[in-house]
Amino acid sequence: MPLLSRSGRVALLLGLNIIMFLAELIVGYTTGSLALIADAFHMLSDVLSQIIALYAIRVGCLNVSSCQRPLYMVSLVS
Ligand SMILES: [Zn+2]
Repeated sequence: MPLLSRSGRVALLLGLNIIMFLAELIVGYTTGSLALIADAFHMLSDVLSQIIALYAIRVGCLNVSSCQRPLYMVSLVS
C-alpha cells in the first residue's frame, strides 16, 4: 500500500510546484532573468493543471469504476 493516496500525492506535487513557482518568480525578478520568469509562468500552468487533476480525483473518483471519465476530461483540458 502506498504511503500517500492518489490525491495526497497530487497535493504534495502541487505544493512543491507552488514553492518552485514562487522561488523562480522571486529570483527571476531580483536577478532580471527573463528565462527564470518565463519558466515560473510555465510552472504556473502546471499548477493550474494539477489543481484541475486534484479536483477530478476528489470529486470524480469516488470509486475505481467511475474514475475514468473525469480523468479523460482532465487530460483533455490540461
Ligand atoms: Zn511543465
